Amino acid sequence: MLTRETVMEAVMSVLDKTFPVIHVLRGGFPLCGFSLALPEKWPPGHKWVPFQDPEARRKTSCPDCKAELEGDN
Ligand SMILES: [Zn+2]
Repeated sequence: MLTRETVMEAVMSVLDKTFPVIHVLRGGFPLCGFSLALPEKWPPGHKWVPFQDPEARRKTSCPDCKAELEGDN
């Protein structure tokens, strides 16, 4: 049966694959602090780039991580 939940789940799983949220990881934690868990334990759709890599850092798609990065400059 098609419920609101199954539809949302399907939509989210497509979005996760298409538009993952890319966080900047520093010292094992995302700059935005969205999770204190290890990246492996993050919900689907969240990825990360290392803070140490300026090139990779620019790929962040997380607005809060971006704001943190700008705050550092
Ligand atoms: Zn983030």
